[in-house]
Amino acid sequence: MTLAKVLLIEDNPVDTVLIKGLLSKVQGAHFHLETTERLSTGLEMIERGGFDVILSDLTLPDSQGLATFMRVFDAAGDIPVVVLTGMDDLSLAAKAVEEGAQAYLVKGKIDGPQLARALRYAIQRTAAEQAEWHSPMFQLAQQQFLKAAQIMGLDDNLRERLLFPQRTLAVTFPFRRDDYLEVETVFGYRVQHLLTMGPTKGGIRYHEEVNLGEVSALAMWMTWKCALMRLPFGGAKGGVRIDPTVLTGHELQRLTRRYTTEILDMIGPDKDIPAPDMGTNERVMSWLMDTYSQQVGYTVPTVVTGKPVVLGGSQGRKEATGRGLVYLIEAAAEHIELNLKGGTAVVQGFGNVGSNAARFLEELGVKVIAVSDVSGAIYNPRGLSVSSLRSYAEENRVLDGYPDGEPISNEEMLELPCDILAPAALQNQITEHNAERIHCKILAEGANGPTTLEADEILQDRGVFVLPDVVANAGGVTVSYFEWVQGTQNYTWTLDEINSRLHSILVDAFRRTVDRASRHNLDVRTAALIEGIQRVAHAKLARGLFP
Ligand code: NAD
Repeated sequence: MTLAKVLLIEDNPVDTVLIKGLLSKVQGAHFHLETTERLSTGLEMIERGGFDVILSDLTLPDSQGLATFMRVFDAAGDIPVVVLTGMDDLSLAAKAVEEGAQAYLVKGKIDGPQLARALRYAIQRTAAEQAEWHSPMFQLAQQQFLKAAQIMGLDDNLRERLLFPQRTLAVTFPFRRDDYLEVETVFGYRVQHLLTMGPTKGGIRYHEEVNLGEVSALAMWMTWKCALMRLPFGGAKGGVRIDPTVLTGHELQRLTRRYTTEILDMIGPDKDIPAPDMGTNERVMSWLMDTYSQQVGYTVPTVVTGKPVVLGGSQGRKEATGRGLVYLIEAAAEHIELNLKGGTAVVQGFGNVGSNAARFLEELGVKVIAVSDVSGAIYNPRGLSVSSLRSYAEENRVLDGYPDGEPISNEEMLELPCDILAPAALQNQITEHNAERIHCKILAEGANGPTTLEADEILQDRGVFVLPDVVANAGGVTVSYFEWVQGTQNYTWTLDEINSRLHSILVDAFRRTVDRASRHNLDVRTAALIEGIQRVAHAKLARGLFP
């Protein structure tokens, strides 16, 4: 769970100690508190920045009443403000709320969960109001698209049509944790970027920073990816803004079932087919399928992919993204004449994509010298044992404390000299701030959107071969397509069939991409995007305009 940074402006030391004590005892929430007794220093601290929420008394030595709130509020800009008040100042506090405070809390009447909830909701509401479309990731997806559109001379009308998703659904729904009495309001999304190519397809992400912009970026990338792989889908994506790593199995199931109910009208086996993404897995897909099936009254396995084999899932789907990534690393290595045997790899993220990629790299004879997850990174220049890391992560949920390696930071890990660097966690990891210090030969983007446009240019100048996300992590959606086809036909394929079809689709897309890149003197990402966009443009023109 992310740490929320709170600025407390309160002149009464007893109240300050009380609030500190209350926040330190709240279960399942982490707050870092900085305090000041005066408005003037409070304003200076706001100016310096870094706070997620401000909690302010109205009566301070250097300012009293509504004027205190107004000055804090004006200085705060986008940071939410919660007011602290005494019983005798309630009308003043209500006025502050009218003027823009997120909430007020009455001193002497608050308990820890109430305080935490007010702060958390203030942050969430502000994020919902401000950040929905203003996501760096959506901006990146749009910039990449616009760059490709410009280079390929895409028709202006099509450019406008494809810049935003066709359908978006934002929902809020109630959620109760096992041992909490309160009912939380949770934000969820489903976005369909393009309905032209067939049903839409895309994973569901559970992460505490998900917003509409992020889900829209991911949906747009799905469109290009499916088109590049020549799969009969448009792009979609879903998300729930919550930290799944702190949820119990019961909580995860309740959350999934309610979210599914909220998006039920939008999904369906011929409409929009979800799959796993960050923070979700086979188990979540089973609940999603079960909830959908309960609602329509019969079992519909083809409403999701990435479900367990026993429920109609496909052989090889679970590891498909990691396996596909390694098939493509092999193709890229051949392309740049790099011998992988005895080479070195660094993998960021040790979830579905990262841990499987590490495993298949090791099988190829590549030495995995560092891996990381949310708890930090482990480095061993002699090579790590991937199977032992996988068992450790399974047992302990995170890699922290793994004995056979040196703990280093995620930032240090990205800068280790190696042959292959595979970011397989979050977006926005390789930026203009570290691109100069990335020392790999192939950057294999398991994650979606790990590299910014500025970093792309730096890497290209430095001769790093970038295997872009729309190609590199397409193994997942490709085997999802196989799963959907098998489900539709009520027929199953063997793992060998799956892997050989996967290999030929990925390698074919890779070859078309690098051919285009060399024919038109393009970077590989732009070439891949143009391959996808061109197919979509042809389909759109072929379908004509309604009405
Ligand atoms: P996952 O939830 O299984 O694993 C995510 C991993 O990232 C975890 O090990 C987590 O600890 C780690 N992580 C989180 N924050 C981190 C941080 N700040 N620094 C380092 N590591 C951190 O997710 P996944 O399914 O493996 O997805 C990872 C990426 O791959 C995402 O960008 C996702 O969109 C992309 N992707 C996934 C699939 C798929 O089939 N699952 C397909 C295509 C693309």
